[in-house]
Amino acid sequence: MMMEEETTMMAALSTLRPSQLSDLSYSIMSLSFHHRCRLCFLLSSPSLFSLTLHHLHSLSFSQKTLLIARHLLFSLHHLTRHFQPPPPLLLHPSAAIKHRDLDAVLLLLFLCETNQHNPEALERPHAEWRDILSNLCSDTMLKITGITGVVDGAALIPYMEMVKRCRRFVGIMGCVGKEGKEVAASIAAVVALPAVEVRRGGVECVICKEEMREGRDVCKLPCQHLFHWMCILPWLKKRNTCPCCRFQLPCDDIFGEIQRLWGVLVKASGKSLDAGWT
Ligand SMILES: [Zn+2]
Ligand SMILES: [Zn+2]
Repeated sequence: MMMEEETTMMAALSTLRPSQLSDLSYSIMSLSFHHRCRLCFLLSSPSLFSLTLHHLHSLSFSQKTLLIARHLLFSLHHLTRHFQPPPPLLLHPSAAIKHRDLDAVLLLLFLCETNQHNPEALERPHAEWRDILSNLCSDTMLKITGITGVVDGAALIPYMEMVKRCRRFVGIMGCVGKEGKEVAASIAAVVALPAVEVRRGGVECVICKEEMREGRDVCKLPCQHLFHWMCILPWLKKRNTCPCCRFQLPCDDIFGEIQRLWGVLVKASGKSLDAGWT
């Protein structure tokens, strides 16, 4: 049965310890605040606003979908790092987002938000948009700063609302959610895999069905399963899952990563339901 996005996120968050939840709330609040500041800044500058709008117009539909997908991935990284810490060497995939693209996606999402809550604002002539949006932006800015002191789950609701919308959109327009789509594991994640020495013999490598001899250096996946390096490397070049338990390693494909991180939330939410979450 498919759980609603919101239920999944709430159930996953309910498994966090209070200290983790306040850490998460704090980091999400400051991130939202930072993004809102950037948006207010861009709306306050006529030249930056017209450049960004121009950039947005120049993007094709699929480029816009990709921008939203990257923003969603960035947001999911924030939500999931308490459930499954990212490998230490892995560079944040959204760390490399250009200022121009960040501005474009922030403006795009704000236009969607405005279209939903204040559709009449966008019926005004284009020349008036910047002033109108600028006012709306400072209004919501006040709301954000008004609740920064509150460090509980409630502060996360607007953020989860954004994640939910982006996920639906990307799910329909992109290719998230296609079962059985295989993607290679991320190179950075593969390079960071540890080598361990086989402590006792008699354990079989499930790929080649041969024994991993005692004292030999083998590869350990984060799920603790062991494989010969010669066997697992070609495997991970084709797919990012463990041959034993289907644990997913990070991948370089944006849509694949969104699906993987969403899976982390779904798994965490399942644990909370098992534990009698109401
Ligand atoms: Zn093997
Ligand atoms: Zn495994």
